Amino acid sequence: MKYSHIICHYSEIGLKGRNRPYFVKILRDNIKLTVNKIDKCPLEKIQIIHDRILIILSDYNDITLQQIKKSLSNIFGIAYFCPAIKINDGLDSIKTNALSILKEESFESFRITARMSTPSTLSKMYVHEKVGEYIQKKLKKSVSLKFPDINCYIDSFSAGTFIYTDKIKGSGGMPVSTGGKGIVMLSGGIDSPVAAYYLLKRGMSLSFVHFHSIPHVSPASIEKVKELTLNLSKYQKKSKLLLVPFSEIQEEIVSKTSEKYRVLLYRRMMLKISNEIAHTERGKAIITGEALGQVSSQTLENIASVDCVSSLPVFRPLIGMDKQEIINTGKLIETYDISIRPHEDCCTLFLPERPATKSTAISLEREENKFNYSEMIKNAIDRIEIVEF
Ligand code: ATP
Ligand code: MG
Repeated sequence: MKYSHIICHYSEIGLKGRNRPYFVKILRDNIKLTVNKIDKCPLEKIQIIHDRILIILSDYNDITLQQIKKSLSNIFGIAYFCPAIKINDGLDSIKTNALSILKEESFESFRITARMSTPSTLSKMYVHEKVGEYIQKKLKKSVSLKFPDINCYIDSFSAGTFIYTDKIKGSGGMPVSTGGKGIVMLSGGIDSPVAAYYLLKRGMSLSFVHFHSIPHVSPASIEKVKELTLNLSKYQKKSKLLLVPFSEIQEEIVSKTSEKYRVLLYRRMMLKISNEIAHTERGKAIITGEALGQVSSQTLENIASVDCVSSLPVFRPLIGMDKQEIINTGKLIETYDISIRPHEDCCTLFLPERPATKSTAISLEREENKFNYSEMIKNAIDRIEIVEF
């Protein structure tokens, strides 16, 4: 079959009023960029037509079609897409093409679903009736409007008349880069890559910050974070990973402050540094993988006393999720298998025996004033390493 066209439909963007063309144009650009990354890409052009984006291919082999399908399912903003065959308008053409497409399939019941608009003069009811009757007679199959084994779609609009049987669900969400830029605190665990995914899905473009405690942890922990960033980079044009040396700050916290506050003080320092990074990277929000009550540093009191050092909003898309729900998404987006590889995170170093579950901002401020953190933060920022994907 010559699936020379792919018709993409968007969902939430369709609800936008006068801003809709802006969102659609970015979606079109994102599709173009992603599809063009495919080796020997047969892309001819991409057109915006009414409430659809039409991908036109110059070549139609099965392998590239599979690759294009895979790429499209990673593009946020697409509700569903349909590999389609362009045919001539007119009842005879629709009948013949419906027959040749359905002859290849195995099914007992079917339905014809037409959407006819100008320049076609056929009404959809007429197409349903005439094409349905023809297929029934030719293939000896029955019509089922409610639960057909196969649905044959006829879509006729200004770009031509198209026929297809496959409606593939897209990822939904908003096109990446319509939602501003955020800085993700990426730990190498299960949660933070999933948090990143949810913000990408809402259209944010992201940079990633990882704090490492080399030489206290092995370089393998950094390799893992690089792999996670690479995986998440399939959703956006390019990704930047900033690796922040954190061991000196940690050592100072361990030697100078009260043990029960350690993890919270690590987090406050991380958040302060992430705010500085956001400033230079033009990020407007910080994203973390915290979920309420998951560990002692994520009680409401502790989240609040860490949160207050941030001048930017801190987004925690997983806040109301169970661990199992987060794991399910991690598996779906293929970060889970990378995340569960054994590694040491800097936060698991020097863990206190009895961490505080209820801190206040004042008590944490008092603790962190026991060392010259401003100087150390500056020093860590000066030694950031950047990896681009
Ligand atoms: P995960 O590590 O998968 O995020 P977790 O339950 O281990 O989940 P914590 O270690 O408590 O979470 O960390 C909470 C959040 O703090 C992380 O989701 C992440 O956003 C941030 N964070 C923790 N450690 C680091 C790190 N080394 N570098 C960057 N961010 C970190
Ligand atoms: Mg962690």
